Formats: sequence, C-alpha cells, structure tokens
Amino acid sequence: DPRLKAISEAIRVVPHFPKPGIMFQDITTLLLDHKAFKSTVDIFVDRYRHMNISAVAGVEARGFMFGPPIALAIGAKFVPLRKPGKLPGGVISEEYVLEYGTDCLEMHVEAVQPGERVLVIDDLVATGGTLSAAISLLERVGAEVVECACVIGLPEVKVI
Ligand code: IMP
Repeated sequence: DPRLKAISEAIRVVPHFPKPGIMFQDITTLLLDHKAFKSTVDIFVDRYRHMNISAVAGVEARGFMFGPPIALAIGAKFVPLRKPGKLPGGVISEEYVLEYGTDCLEMHVEAVQPGERVLVIDDLVATGGTLSAAISLLERVGAEVVECACVIGLPEVKVI
C-alpha cells in the first residue's frame, strides 16, 4: 500500500523514553499530519467496513485516538477499555502481566452484548499482553472478537 510509507514516516521514534533503553514510538506526530492520519483510519475502514462489526473497543489511551473515527466510519459503537477506577458504571476487570509487575483493563459490563462482533484497536502491539487482556474482557461478556488491529507492530518483540 503506497500510503504506508508516509504513515511510517509520520511516526516519531524517541530514544530513551520513558526510560533508558526504550525506543518510544510516538503517534502524536502522526495525528499532526492530517493526510497520514486520515490514511491510517482509511486503511482500517477499508478492511473492516463489510465485516458486520457492531462495536470497536479501544485500549486506553492511544486506542481512544484511532478507535472512534474507525467506529464512526464503519457504523459501529465505540467502547473504551480503561485503566482501573476510571469507569463509573458496573465493570469487569482483567489483570495482565507486564515485564515488571502487572496492569489492568476494565470495561463497562453493559457496553457489549453477547454475540456482538467486536474489533479491538490500539496504537501498538509489543508482546500482545494488552490485547490478550482486551480479548478476555470481551469474551467474558460473550462477544466475538473478530480481529485486533494496531497502527504499529514491534517486529523485534516475540508475540505471545
Ligand atoms: P504489549 O502489551 O506488550 O503488546 O504492549 C502494548 C501496549 O504498550 C500498548 O497499549 C501500547 O500503547 C504500549 N506501548 C508499548 N511500547 C510503546 C511505544 O513505544 N509507544 C507507544 N506505546 C507503547
């Protein structure tokens, strides 16, 4: 796809952020480039518009930047998957293991109904631990996760 080069070039790589040794993939520079941002959303929309998807679930925080425009364009609702303690309604929680310690995602239980076809969106997949937790949350309420999609895949990381 000829659009991928411009998208890739619009993503800034910041060495040693937020800690020494980490090459941080910064998608805020992609958001500043209207054409590349639109191409990113369009590529996902082209893929998912005819897959009978009724909900897009976005992972906090950068899944909130790409998920809503995709959801609007494919005619689906948007469901935020948030860090603990942020959602005011009834939630289910899923803990997951990080390199050092654990993290947690929460979802409003009534947001997705059993049998709904869901697309999960985040900015980046590294180990896949975050997306695995997202899939677990959705499957626990009986939803079907059609696919997970990210803007960036870190090739040097072994996906679990
Ligand atoms: P995973 O759970 O190991 O696949 O890590 C993916 C999660 O970490 C996503 O929610 C990303 O937003 C975040 N993440 C990890 N590395 C980066 C980075 O370099 N830039 C932006 N987000 C990152």
